[in-house]
Amino acid sequence: MNNLAELPITALKGVGDKFAQVLGKLHVSTVQDLLFHLPLRYQDRTRVTPIAALTPGLDAVIEGEVRAADVVFGRRRSLVVRLQDGSGTITLRFFHFSAAQKNRFARGARLRCYGEARRGSAGLELYHPETEIVGEETAPHPDTLTPVYPLTEGVSQGRLRGLMLQALDLLERGGVTELLPTELLPAAMRYPLADALRYLHTPPAGVDLAQLAEGQHPAQQRLAIEELLAHHLSLLEVRRGNAAIAAPPLSANAALERDFLSRLPFSLTGAQQRVCAEIAEDLASHRPMMRLLQGDVGAGKTLVAALAALKAIGTGAQVAVMAPTEILAEQHRRNFCGWLEPLGISVAWLTGSLKAAERRAQLAAIASGEAQLVVGTHALFQPEVVFHNLALVIIDEQHRFGVRQRLELREKGSADGAAGRLQPHQLIMTATPIPRTLAMSAFADLDCSVIDELPPGRQPINTVAISNERREEVMQRVQTAVAEGRQAYWVCTLIEESESLQAQAAETTANELAEVLTGMRIALVHGRLKPDEKERVMAAFKAGEVDLLVATTVIEVGVDVPNASLMIIENPERLGLAQLHQLRGRVGRGSIASHCVLLYGTPLSQNGRARLQALRQHSDGFAIAEEDLRLRGPGEILGTRQTGEIQHRIADLQRDAHLLPQVQRIAAAPALDESARRALIARWLQNKPRYAEA
Ligand code: ADP
Ligand code: MG
Repeated sequence: MNNLAELPITALKGVGDKFAQVLGKLHVSTVQDLLFHLPLRYQDRTRVTPIAALTPGLDAVIEGEVRAADVVFGRRRSLVVRLQDGSGTITLRFFHFSAAQKNRFARGARLRCYGEARRGSAGLELYHPETEIVGEETAPHPDTLTPVYPLTEGVSQGRLRGLMLQALDLLERGGVTELLPTELLPAAMRYPLADALRYLHTPPAGVDLAQLAEGQHPAQQRLAIEELLAHHLSLLEVRRGNAAIAAPPLSANAALERDFLSRLPFSLTGAQQRVCAEIAEDLASHRPMMRLLQGDVGAGKTLVAALAALKAIGTGAQVAVMAPTEILAEQHRRNFCGWLEPLGISVAWLTGSLKAAERRAQLAAIASGEAQLVVGTHALFQPEVVFHNLALVIIDEQHRFGVRQRLELREKGSADGAAGRLQPHQLIMTATPIPRTLAMSAFADLDCSVIDELPPGRQPINTVAISNERREEVMQRVQTAVAEGRQAYWVCTLIEESESLQAQAAETTANELAEVLTGMRIALVHGRLKPDEKERVMAAFKAGEVDLLVATTVIEVGVDVPNASLMIIENPERLGLAQLHQLRGRVGRGSIASHCVLLYGTPLSQNGRARLQALRQHSDGFAIAEEDLRLRGPGEILGTRQTGEIQHRIADLQRDAHLLPQVQRIAAAPALDESARRALIARWLQNKPRYAEA
């Protein structure tokens, strides 16, 4: 039997080693790979459109008689051909042309053209259409749509189409294994794989092009579900790999925990208790924990993390806490020091901005094990850092890490560990609620815990949307709040990624506000400040020495100032809902009623309006995330990095999210045997080593 998965692409006529290398750039090395290289879109060349029936913006085939062909010297020299059929006349325009070309378009010649009709100065025109003189040897119109494939340098559409026809001929004789037992597929998708592939490479004339463009055809869905399944299986594989790795079991030190809890001015919420129990069970195991801890801003994740840390420290091991920014790391340091030092636990501190001597001292404390807990930024994972019996890594706000980064982090921890090949447990915290469907697919290698309850006594944040035309009024509001002894944030957003532009905009706003709000103590914080300057400003705000903090989105995560009860967000329409929700979470940290003003720019798009509305209606981060997923797609929630990693060939996480529960069900079915699982991963992911290795 010819197995196309093992038939090298060089088996096709016209493919030598050199061209095979070019195809390799398209991740095509076998005939089966080629068959899974699916069209981006289609052209309909199956029928001729009468000139009078052309629609601007649409591709079409037309056929007619050349009435005239003239070189015109306008703003640019161009060749203008008038073509006529029984229904009307149209202009073809060429800016690049040879004498030979002009001569082909002799008056009276019959011409077949393919191109997009556009509105020109003289009615509809075709710019640089593909042209062919119609004669004896002219091929008949194809009876299938013409596929347009993703290309790379050195491969043309024509050549790829030719190869595909050869591959489809081979497919006709079998050779692509049906890996999914039919009964596992949803009824609407029981489409034989070979038929689905053939259909998508050569859809018949008259097919619903819109349905194909939207990826809704059953043939596409059949492939999408298989691809999603392959990704899911590969993450489960990662999870299984986990079971082969040893980690230090961390049992509870009851006395230490009691001591810790008795010093808190509150008791744990039910959700915190439940999540702590889930974590405790993981930590007690000989296998490394890989757990994602989700909870809205202010839900009390840090406290849960501290309890997890105590389990490691209580057994004499070390814990690392990593935050994405210095401000956030500093806040963790304060929290952890405040909680742990009274228990006699020593906390070290490591960021990129430490002075050399201080850095040496901290590194020494970490290496000797004198430091029982280390808080820091990415600096924690530099090669010079040598941990001492590291048993738990806590990562804050890094859900955007991909599978590979998560595993790398864990390995870094183990490489330095004294306990041989033991790897540390990992707890990843995020305040960005991840919709269930996404979590199931993008984080299938992680266990999930959710703190779905806020500590008692929190006041809901009253959110309003006000147009920028009423800016004066909003400034007045800030005035009033400050007069009442409250503090406020004014957040500036810019589309530009550049920190210097953002900083500039924030500076301009701060000056403008200072002019209007005379006598108010205004400070500015943005990403261009040196870490210690930033720190000073934040500390002053926290100490109540600043009334109004003008900031860029650098304050997004972590910062905790209970007396700040008003937040103005300028141009909120530019940000994602999840990010807005995070920002807004900076107020309402105390027991005072808090307000958030979304100061939007006009005109507001319909989508922008819908998003601000969603933010006003919901206070639950999960509801907001679902809405964000609906309105903006998974990239916004997971970050480009993550979606870059889960680049699918045919599936689209947002469009096909409804398939994910089916995918999970199929993955859990015993009818899907071991060899089929491996073959599915190989079929869809073999050319994505980053994932396959992980
Ligand atoms: P998160 O990291 O989830 O955003 P934090 O852990 O920073 O939230 O907690 C926010 C605030 O709530 C902190 O001031 C913390 O001390 C407090 N807090 C945490 N758990 C409780 C609780 N069970 N009851 C009351 N306050 C709590
Ligand atoms: Mg936090």
